[in-house]
Amino acid sequence: MVGPVAILILVLASLAIGSFLNVVIHRLPRGESLAFPGSRCTSCGKAIRFYDNVPLFSYAVLGGRCRFCKEKISARYPLVEGLTAFIVLALFTVYGPTVAFAAYATLAFFLIPISFIDWDTGFIPDKLVIPASIAGIIFLAAFHIVKWQVTWKSGLFGMIAGGGLLVFLMTVGKFLMKKDAMGMGDVKMLAMTGIYVGFPAVWIALFFGGVAACVYIMIALIRKRLQLKNTIPFGPFIAIGTLTYLLAGDFLIQWYLGLIR
Ligand SMILES: [Zn+2]
Repeated sequence: MVGPVAILILVLASLAIGSFLNVVIHRLPRGESLAFPGSRCTSCGKAIRFYDNVPLFSYAVLGGRCRFCKEKISARYPLVEGLTAFIVLALFTVYGPTVAFAAYATLAFFLIPISFIDWDTGFIPDKLVIPASIAGIIFLAAFHIVKWQVTWKSGLFGMIAGGGLLVFLMTVGKFLMKKDAMGMGDVKMLAMTGIYVGFPAVWIALFFGGVAACVYIMIALIRKRLQLKNTIPFGPFIAIGTLTYLLAGDFLIQWYLGLIR
């Protein structure tokens, strides 16, 4: 049995990791060091004291403003912290204390910063995709026998099938629309995901992501936040599709098959 203390440690640890992911999201695209200097107010540059750097809690205590210059702190900081803890808890609820949980939580710790960086900059950094892929291959090589449906064959095929399908869709898209709809960053990101979820799951994850992207585009068009000629970053939707598959894939597939029958 997993006791409440273990759950509490899990939540606190994932909030702390979420806090670090904020640093990655902010600094990695700027080419800044992730370790030094410590956290600073992005407005006045003053060092943030350790007691003002407690995930979620400090944001609430400070009323979402810097202690020194009173400038608003982006609501994204507590959002990323809370989101990280929520995803880790949800994965733990589904997979329990298993190797699969460790692998998928590791994947989530890369999907989150990749998504926000792609959303901000339209760029998916190799500096995140490559380490995540290596970690996935290590999980595959070391633990494929443990309670985890992804075998090394399925993982390697997932990588190739994930990247390959996107290359194909990109080529078709470019032919039909005469412009690039996706980039190589998306291809590498889906290949990375394929290592973790295997085949054919990587295609199901891509399908879920595509559905999420369509819903987003329709809402954004209706609310006039987007025009048809715009492109949107696809990385966040690959992440949404992958996490949807990992958390509710079996349920959604059964439900869909039930509709057909
Ligand atoms: Zn400040």
